Amino acid sequence: MDLLLDVDVIVDICAPRQEFEESSRDAITFCELNAGRVWIYAGSVQTLEYVLFYELKQNYARSDRYPTDRQIKHRTSQLLAEFCRDKQWLAALAGEGNVFMKADPENEQLLTALNRFPDRSIKILTRDKPLLERYPNKAISPEQYLNFIDSQTNVPFIDLKKQQDAIRPALEHNIHSLLHHGQYIMGPEINELETGLGEYLGAKHTITCSSGTDALLLALMAYGIGPGDAVLTSPFTFFATAEVITLLGATPVFVDIDPDSFNIDPEKLEPAVQAVQGKDSSCHPLPAFCWPAITDHRPLTPKGIIAVDLFGLPCDYGRINKIAQKHGLFVIEDAAQSLGAEYQGRKAGALADIGCSSFFPAKPLGCYGDGGAVFTDDDRLAESMRSIRVHGQGDDKYDNDRIGLNARMDSIQAAVLLAKLDLFPQEIELRQQAAQRYAELLAPCSMLSAPCVPQGYKSAFAQYSVLARDSTARQRHQTRLKEQGIPSVVYYPKPLHRQSAFAFLGYNDSDFPVSDNIASRIFSLPMHAYLSRETQETICQCLLAVDSNF
Ligand SMILES: *Cc1c(COP(=O)(O)O)cnc(C)c1O
Repeated sequence: MDLLLDVDVIVDICAPRQEFEESSRDAITFCELNAGRVWIYAGSVQTLEYVLFYELKQNYARSDRYPTDRQIKHRTSQLLAEFCRDKQWLAALAGEGNVFMKADPENEQLLTALNRFPDRSIKILTRDKPLLERYPNKAISPEQYLNFIDSQTNVPFIDLKKQQDAIRPALEHNIHSLLHHGQYIMGPEINELETGLGEYLGAKHTITCSSGTDALLLALMAYGIGPGDAVLTSPFTFFATAEVITLLGATPVFVDIDPDSFNIDPEKLEPAVQAVQGKDSSCHPLPAFCWPAITDHRPLTPKGIIAVDLFGLPCDYGRINKIAQKHGLFVIEDAAQSLGAEYQGRKAGALADIGCSSFFPAKPLGCYGDGGAVFTDDDRLAESMRSIRVHGQGDDKYDNDRIGLNARMDSIQAAVLLAKLDLFPQEIELRQQAAQRYAELLAPCSMLSAPCVPQGYKSAFAQYSVLARDSTARQRHQTRLKEQGIPSVVYYPKPLHRQSAFAFLGYNDSDFPVSDNIASRIFSLPMHAYLSRETQETICQCLLAVDSNF
């Protein structure tokens, strides 16, 4: 539970008022220890200065000291600046303005501000008797709060709150600026974000769009992919990767993964290309379907590869790009999970002909809705994708060169991402540290193996996915974690060749044994930049306990 501090409680501590200081301080500490946030209402600033000034003046007078008003004013500012330094500012919103006719305007403001939060997630910490009596569900005294048992705090799988706390001023500034300039579509934020991302990745062209899925669609459409075309990709990925291929009428040809990296196995790419070319499934499993009236007449032509940087670890692009070049195929990097990762000193998203990423909230760099981007060094592809993003627009708004999409990113999502982008490189480093701690803590675990990051690679650790010895071991580990209130998730329980949506492709269940095997053993632990060592120790103790009971 969060606390919103009333002015009197802040004065208790800053003045300090002997009989109240300790309980007020303790309440704040208790809240922080229980992962609650401590808020100060930005609309209270003047009252706070005013009340503290007179409280200090009285205190000085009581001890027979008479500093000048200027000196007291200076002391007031110092004390408040210091106290507020590590607290969260709660912005005053328009609806909290016209409260003059209310019996108690200031309390009315706080009560109204509280309505922004989900039920029971915050209370006003106050000594105001009328407020406490009238609103027992909304207000609490320090003494009451110290006797209140906060319900067991759950470990979040991905903590977006802590990140938000770190960027709140920039975030609110960006969103409010947007409300004022009103360019909701293709506003100045879009260009600024594209420039920022391009510089970060080292990509010549960055084109933001409406989602990671649409980013993949833009890339495939720029290559003119359609019926009769085969696109090679991994069966062990999020559904969208192969969905977009099918959506354009082309055929996904799955290539099994490497058991260590969980990424597409470069070893199996060439046999797959040859199998498609020769319509020969003896060297590599092929889809046995008949797309009505197409495959009957035309064989499939291999056109490209979508390589997926699963869980944030880049694929082996050195080998993949070489094989693609040899066979005249394009390579699209599905970097939805790998923004911030590196391969041989180059950033993920810029490792193939086109990189596609997602800003879905749970990705390493997430917005507050859907968003995506494509990256490329190729001028012609960039131009096509820019056009396809807006209905195949030509030079003029009502001049259409091709069939396209409505796939722009909203300005408001760019505004959110701009606030996060500055922090992103640092967050990637924090993820490295969290991953390193997990690896050390899990080292004694004989039932689990930690993810390996080969020399020359850096993972974005979108997920920290561990491999259990078998599915029974996974079951036991997950059950144990759940009992302790620790979430874990299986990405992905069902490889794509087994999905009923792809049943029409006619794959056999046993076509991709490595993907099947990994899918039966893998699970992901809580992972984010703000994961504490203590939380990781709790998680790993849990896992080790299962280990010793085997
Ligand atoms: C999330 C994800 C996508 C799709 O991104 P959206 O923004 O949700 O459309 C595509 N591929 C992979 C590997 C993903 O993880």
